[in-house]
This record gives sequence, structure tokens and C-alpha cells, in this order.
Amino acid sequence: MNYDKNNIFAKILRNEADCVKVYEDSKVLAFMDVMPQAPGHTLVIPKFETTNLLNLPDEFMEPILKTTKNIANAIKKVYSPTGVMIMQLNGKEAGQTVFHLHFHIIQRSSGLEYKFHSRDVEDFDKLENEARKIRKAIAI
Ligand code: 5GP
Repeated sequence: MNYDKNNIFAKILRNEADCVKVYEDSKVLAFMDVMPQAPGHTLVIPKFETTNLLNLPDEFMEPILKTTKNIANAIKKVYSPTGVMIMQLNGKEAGQTVFHLHFHIIQRSSGLEYKFHSRDVEDFDKLENEARKIRKAIAI
């Protein structure tokens, strides 16, 4: 599948669409998922145009995994879940719906509601409130 420069994450990277940022450096951007499956659901994307992980240049591997790990640890600190799910889908048949590579970081605990994928849009104030806590907890 060819990379579509008008996908929503490409627009976020070009500042043509809003997002609630959690972390940013020269290689990656992390921001709140607008339809969180649990509070604090964060996405990490490379600043590189690729639909999926299979075509990501090696120089982005360390930054994207390091950021994903650091945010997972921050989510652990903030919410104290018993589990943290890190999910990354490649291709429509794998369930991918936005075709710019991204890692999901989602807290999981028994009894904590795990919402449907891409279902309920959260308002930006609530996302900002969660992002503030995660930003504070990131130890990079
Ligand atoms: P995928 O199914 O491709 O692995 O996940 C795409 C994710 O992007 C979903 O969890 C969905 O909620 C999220 N998403 C879709 N559109 C937007 C958007 O405009 N902004 C943000 N922040 N997240 C989005």
C-alpha cells in the first residue's frame, strides 16, 4: 500500500490537525489517542512517512521503541495498572485503520473497562488532563 500524505497522522505531523501531545523529539511524536480504549491511551509515531513497521528505517527503531517504553513506564506510574498493552498493527487485515505507523500504549487491569477500538471520541480537555499527568511522569 502506498503512503497517503493526507492520512490524519501525517496532518498531525505537519500541524494541519490538532492533537494532545505527550512527547516530541526530532524522530518521534507521542500524542493521546482521540478514541482512548482506556484512560491515558497514547500513540507513538515516527517522523517518517511509512504505513507500517516493516518499512521503517533502522535509525528510527531505537527512538520509537525507547519512547514507547518510557511512556509505558510513565503510564505505569500514573495509573498503577497491573498490565500495559503495547500494540502495533500492520495492514487493514491486521486491523490497522490509520496508515501511518504507530504504537499503541494502553493500560490494562482486571475490572478496568477496555473500550472498543476507534469508537468513542473523548473531548480534548479530558485528554489534556491525562496527558499532563503522563508528561510529568516521563523519565527520559
Ligand atoms: P489502528 O487501528 O490503525 O491501529 O489505530 C488507529 C488509532 O488512531 C485508533 O486507536 C484511533 O482511535 C486513533 N485515531 C484515529 N483518528 C485519530 C485522530 O484524528 N487523532 C488521534 N489523536 N487519534 C486518532
